[in-house]
Amino acid sequence: MRIQKCAICEKNNYQILYRENIPPDKINEKVFSARRLPDKIHYQIVQCQNCGLVYSNPIFSLDKIKNLYRKSYVAYEESLENLKKTYGHYLRQLENFAPKKNRLLDIGCGNGFFLEEALNQGYKEVFGVEPGKKSVLKAKPQIRKNIKIDFFHASLFPKNFFDVITCFQTLDHIPDPNTFLKDCRWVLKKGGLMLFINHDVGHIVNRFLGEKSPIIDIEHTYLFDKKTIKKIFEKHHFKVLKVGSATNIHNLGYWIKLFPLANFLKLGLINILKKTSLDTLKIKLAVGNLVVFARKNYY
Ligand SMILES: [Zn+2]
Repeated sequence: MRIQKCAICEKNNYQILYRENIPPDKINEKVFSARRLPDKIHYQIVQCQNCGLVYSNPIFSLDKIKNLYRKSYVAYEESLENLKKTYGHYLRQLENFAPKKNRLLDIGCGNGFFLEEALNQGYKEVFGVEPGKKSVLKAKPQIRKNIKIDFFHASLFPKNFFDVITCFQTLDHIPDPNTFLKDCRWVLKKGGLMLFINHDVGHIVNRFLGEKSPIIDIEHTYLFDKKTIKKIFEKHHFKVLKVGSATNIHNLGYWIKLFPLANFLKLGLINILKKTSLDTLKIKLAVGNLVVFARKNYY
């Protein structure tokens, strides 16, 4: 196991929030596949006493985690159109900060669905990084040629290459967010913009659900709230332009998957809804995600 420290203070002065509950025989790539049914497995979850950052500690070795992600698959076909709308909405909001629409990078791009959206919104060249090969193979050919099957790191692209970096529901999964943000800064042009969406551990829904929240999950190595996300961006010399609650559009069936209910109850409910086609009813809710807009400062 790898000992983690607070990514903001670099200290290890923490309070335990939840004890680890990993069954020894249950860890495979399915557990590391995004948008699966939450299975409530998590590492020990702790909170930094100094800055309030919530993180998993200790976690599996980096090699083990990387292997699990390489084999993982993002099973999100059913909610793809909704995600495209949700993330597309925030890409349009980014226009308030006057982005140059030349080169955009999406980190953790899955099958590249958001890269299509960025092209539709007028970005000239779009690139992606995604370690899950199975997801990338599903990308349309003209999109796939610009997706690197890898974990994001600075040497994948030239320095000062991108005008915009987007990253949706990925930062929470990164065992070393400091190196990650440093690498983002490296490949981003001066004055370039970042658009991130993450879970918000400080959101009232997540605070109310506590350990039962679907975000208390083995995939999540760090969990940010509006304060801690700002701190870690500022630590890497990004100017945080705006932090807010993010709304998501999903089908009713997907929302039910996230409910804190037993899985058999959820599947029962979803089956009933499917018979009435209500499962595809589109519902927009702000349920515990945050969005951050930031700019690379000129030094
Ligand atoms: Zn801290």
